[in-house]
Amino acid sequence: MNALKQQRISVLGATGSIGGSTLDVVARHPDRFEVFALTANSRIDELENLCVRHAPRYAVVQGGEDAANLSVRLGRRGLTTEVMHGVSGLIEVAAHSDVDVVMAAIVGAAGLLPTLAAARAGKRVLLANKEALVLSGSLFMDVVRDSGATLLPIDSEHNAIFQSLPAGYGRDPEAAGVRRILLTASGGPFRLTPLEQLHGVTPEQACAHPNWVMGRKISVDSATMMNKGLEVIEAHWLFNAPAERIDVVVHPQSVIHSMVEYVDGSVIAQLGNPDMRTPIANALAYPDRVEAGVGPLDLFRIGRLDFEAPDLVRFPCLRLAYECLREGGAAGAVLNASNEEAVAAFLDRRLRYTDIPAIIECALERASDMSVESIDAVLDTDARSRAIARSEIDKRLYQ
Ligand code: NAD
Ligand code: MG
Repeated sequence: MNALKQQRISVLGATGSIGGSTLDVVARHPDRFEVFALTANSRIDELENLCVRHAPRYAVVQGGEDAANLSVRLGRRGLTTEVMHGVSGLIEVAAHSDVDVVMAAIVGAAGLLPTLAAARAGKRVLLANKEALVLSGSLFMDVVRDSGATLLPIDSEHNAIFQSLPAGYGRDPEAAGVRRILLTASGGPFRLTPLEQLHGVTPEQACAHPNWVMGRKISVDSATMMNKGLEVIEAHWLFNAPAERIDVVVHPQSVIHSMVEYVDGSVIAQLGNPDMRTPIANALAYPDRVEAGVGPLDLFRIGRLDFEAPDLVRFPCLRLAYECLREGGAAGAVLNASNEEAVAAFLDRRLRYTDIPAIIECALERASDMSVESIDAVLDTDARSRAIARSEIDKRLYQ
């Protein structure tokens, strides 16, 4: 066998849940991967420890003071890691000519510019940051096409779909004989909670996901099923599938990560334990397969697989996401921005859980003259939608 060329990787959002799982897989394969850069928002103690373990060439944090502080600390520990800060630092490590692979695992719209920079630079982009794609889908996919970047999905559902589509899928469902994409959803922690109790649920309850351990924002999105809504839009952009060809199937065991149904009636699924190291390892090594640290699937212990249709009364966020996908234009960007603001307010105990969809609906109604045709337009739409959402949140402050 030929010697492998070691791939240099920048992990954006290294201190997060996906960042941690990525570094776990990377550390299992020092022959294949070398950590080039690690980034974090503000948790510099954690980033310091990760730098000691992985000795990256660069580290990036949000603020200048944190950067100076981290730089002194790393120097004391004998590291030559150079510390940068702000969006310009993120963009630099995402697009650096010595980088091969970029893990885009910053949460929310904050990840947009560095992820786009990686795509523009033609990198292998491992996309966890679905919000970036929901915000700027058409523009983002144009950049990927024009630069020749390789975009590989990390979201477990989209990675499952990617694995269930024919190799070399040309982003044409019709030509590939695809009838439907079946996105599975666990239904989250409130699938069976009596509806009249939902207005009183706490951030802790919302973040206690039955099957996955994840960051707080995506955990709340899973509870409202906005996560699945964002994923429907993500699937649309990644696989060029219209809303009519994307169905959501609630599957509480989270063993089937998603499925593709073909015109001949075949349904191809990808199964596995709910552990993000599987999709991460798949995308890191693609088209090879590497050990991810994930144990074998014990079907006898699981015993049964259940399926049900999503309840759009219980989960209005899923309905709103489908409506935005059908509407097109800037609707997805307004949906994403207002959701980020509403979720942050809920996590801060400034907003009730049941007001999250109400805020988004108001933002969608009030948004006018929004565009996503250029990156400046996307950023402007994002900022204006957040301002609208914040003014609606202020009207409903948690009593
Ligand atoms: P997390 O909250 O655990 O981590 C977020 C990371 O982003 C942290 O490293 C944080 O420092 C960084 N960050 C946050 N705000 C930032 C900012 N303004 N500037 C720079 N960096 C910033 O989140 P997570 O659960 O790891 O999710 C990351 C992304 O992956 C999200 O887009 C999420 O939807 C997606 N995703 C996560 C999972 C999962 O299992 N956790 C599964 C599928 C998709
Ligand atoms: Mg997912």
